Amino acid sequence: CSASLEVQQPSPRDTDLQVHRLPQTVVGVLGGGQLGRMLCEAASLMAIKVIILDPMENCPATNLCHYHMVGSYDDSANVEEFAKRCGVLTVEIEHVDVATLEKLEQQGVDCQPKASTIRIIQDKFLQKVHFSRHAIPLPKFMQIDDLEGAKRAGDLFGYPLMIKSKRLAYDGRGNAVAKSEEEISLAVNALGGYARGLYVEKWAPFVKKSQSRDKTSVKDPDYASSTEREVTSSSCSRENICHIVKSPAHVSWKTQKLATDVACKAVSSLEGAGVFAVELFLTADGQVLLNEVAPRPHNSGHHTIESCNTSQYEQHLRAVLGLPLGDPSMKTPAAIMYNILGEDEGEPGFVIANHLIGRALRIPGASIHWYDKPEMRKQRKMGHITLIGPSMGIVEARLKSLLSEEINDDQ
Ligand code: ATP
Ligand code: MG
Ligand code: MG
Repeated sequence: CSASLEVQQPSPRDTDLQVHRLPQTVVGVLGGGQLGRMLCEAASLMAIKVIILDPMENCPATNLCHYHMVGSYDDSANVEEFAKRCGVLTVEIEHVDVATLEKLEQQGVDCQPKASTIRIIQDKFLQKVHFSRHAIPLPKFMQIDDLEGAKRAGDLFGYPLMIKSKRLAYDGRGNAVAKSEEEISLAVNALGGYARGLYVEKWAPFVKKSQSRDKTSVKDPDYASSTEREVTSSSCSRENICHIVKSPAHVSWKTQKLATDVACKAVSSLEGAGVFAVELFLTADGQVLLNEVAPRPHNSGHHTIESCNTSQYEQHLRAVLGLPLGDPSMKTPAAIMYNILGEDEGEPGFVIANHLIGRALRIPGASIHWYDKPEMRKQRKMGHITLIGPSMGIVEARLKSLLSEEINDDQ
């Protein structure tokens, strides 16, 4: 008695007849950091080709993308060359060469979101001016060019005074706080001086920071009208870096509605398709103020990979490709995202992170994301852990286990 295993090869004709329902458009992403990496992960599920432009040969997205062009996204020649290979061009970071994007758009290149949006967002002062023109509630703000101007702002807004760099800001690294008039010069110097381009904001005494995800596709009018918006999470930061995100946000229905309205209005004022993350402050007296908008998936939305029917990464791809949007609702009652920030430089930092990952491996509902960054640096985002579960109480208990030395196996 004998048995044989046969594998039937499709004939070339069968292959020809395959129906591709998804577009064969190549998505080009400016930036190959952790957000780019997660876009690639989502794309692979649908066999969407993602190519990236990033100057770092060993950037987090390099091993997951279809093609990695090594070069700066802030360099005109590189961006132009890269655009030739893409069907649609999008971003995972806003600090890109926007003048080149504008030029490419005029030549017919499909940029999503639009270059006009990136231009507004990448200058935080311009962003504030834009949103104030659209009557969106914001902390008061004004440009400062010298010490006299900064003192005038301090007299008007009081202290503490938030001083911010207009451009190239991320993880709070372009912010400095002056607690009194005497501290202004120190704070300004820490940001590189007035010549860097600074502005100030009135201190927002917020009790909660919330993130609202706003997804819109302008490519297909049917879906432009079915945009989905919701207040998804609340977050807390450590030294201005997002550290823990809880979803859903524990806020009243009224606050949820107000926050959703502010986020909708803000995103409707911007052009182009994609996921937009809206950072909002909730003050003790119930006001919702807009802090900033990111025209792309955001660190605070990592949890959507495990907690939502459609993750922010898949949704961004669908939007920029003009595909029907997915269902963004949560498929688990509660989720917490814990950012793994570099505690120490080099090897000691990796040892600390390894302990955390070791504990996460033993916790039910915990998913580990490690970005494979070549170097460990203090306060650098190295990875994250998402915890999901049947209630926020249980997920909080799981977080406690993660952060304690002992694992309770009953969790
Ligand atoms: P991101 O990494 O989110 O892009 P960023 O560098 O653009 O951060 P901001 O979002 O402007 O910086 O500020 C970082 C954090 O500083 C905020 O999340 C908030 O905690 C705090 N913050 C910013 N503006 C104010 C303000 N006007 N009053 C009080 N706190 C503020
Ligand atoms: Mg920012
Ligand atoms: Mg921010």
